[in-house]
Amino acid sequence: MTDFQFETGKEFAVAMDARDPLSDYRNRFFIPQHAGQDCVYLSGHSLGLQPKSAAAYVQQELDDWAALGVEGHFRARHPWMPYHDLLAEQTAAVVGAKACEVVVMNSLTVNLHLMMVSFYRPTPSKHKIVIERGAFPSDQYAVKSQLHYHGYDPATSLIELTPRPGEACLRDDDIVSLIAHSGNDIALILLGGVNYATGQAFDIEAITQIGHAKGCIVAFDMAHAVGNLQLSLHECGPDFAVWCSYKYLNGGPGCVGGCFVHERHAHSTHLPRFTGWWGHDQESRFEMPSTFEPMFGAEGWQLSNPSIMSMSVLRASMDIFHEAGMGQLREKSVSLTSYLEFLLHANASAKFSILTPKESTRRGAQLSLRIRQHGHKLCDKLAEEGIVGDWREPDILRVAPVPLYNSYRDVFRFVQRFSELMV
Ligand SMILES: *Cc1c(COP(=O)(O)O)cnc(C)c1O
Repeated sequence: MTDFQFETGKEFAVAMDARDPLSDYRNRFFIPQHAGQDCVYLSGHSLGLQPKSAAAYVQQELDDWAALGVEGHFRARHPWMPYHDLLAEQTAAVVGAKACEVVVMNSLTVNLHLMMVSFYRPTPSKHKIVIERGAFPSDQYAVKSQLHYHGYDPATSLIELTPRPGEACLRDDDIVSLIAHSGNDIALILLGGVNYATGQAFDIEAITQIGHAKGCIVAFDMAHAVGNLQLSLHECGPDFAVWCSYKYLNGGPGCVGGCFVHERHAHSTHLPRFTGWWGHDQESRFEMPSTFEPMFGAEGWQLSNPSIMSMSVLRASMDIFHEAGMGQLREKSVSLTSYLEFLLHANASAKFSILTPKESTRRGAQLSLRIRQHGHKLCDKLAEEGIVGDWREPDILRVAPVPLYNSYRDVFRFVQRFSELMV
């Protein structure tokens, strides 16, 4: 719960923006335009906005490619061969890991499969996978296909955590007790850091602890958590985590994703893994040896030489994250989302409810609103006015004020028009 003192008037939003130490960061991003004005963009959980600096970062690589051709691998201003290293420290800082535990590569679902190849090791007596009911479809497909691949049937080997009747979110206690109860059969626990639909943040530390006590591999899909929550993956200790970089991390559509492998597995060369040359020891990679020797840590899971253009955009955004700091960003985020919640409560109506947990420790920036009737139409009407949330069938409007580029006035304007347009 929060102890903020909010007020309902517009002057309050204006005053909060004036006092916000992060307010200038908004000017570092392109805000989509509508009728000559900034949109109220509340879809950063879906696609983050473009840093104005991104073009220069990409241009640098285009220029080096033009001037140097293949030599750019070694002689570019930021040589392409170790280019992903430029992102390691900042990525580690954002997820609370050591640099050797993270790597930027591929895209989320690909990384999820690569990780499951190594860490989902079912046996006849311990083969089940735990996910959230209604997990993001790609995660469901990936997990079910892994079960099939190993000869198991999702009908009997997949456990889907389900909220209690009449509740929208899972109770932390229920998750822990299910694992405590059924953990002996469970090979892998894979939950979202933040559930994409409800916005619920899970207790990574508690789930990891009980999962490990039961001998399970514990993993998180951080798509909606990275760049949103203040994380400490190393200390909380899950075995692996994966994420994409185009949501809160503003890496641009289809941007290269990320992966965390806990340090305890850094030397686990016995783990089966799907390998490629970019995961091979950097010293001898270009000697083209026929025997694979993995790089130390998460980098050893790389397959291919990565997209420099895509990573250059991500660098532009990560430099901004580094400057602002996750601590400050999260502080503003908690305040901004609490303000959104406060205004929604002030305009309470039987026509909608908030699904996301009330406690700020159990959510990130996003609030999910269940709209009883005609919600899709409402979402469309808002969009026609340049107020951008997103709609999830059958009845959820997701809105996320993002601390890097959203203002208190954005939140005010959203709630004002939301309440007026609700029929
Ligand atoms: C956004 C998202 C994805 C998208 O996967 P891609 O492989 O990046 O297309 C997958 N899972 C979750 C939980 C997501 O939020």
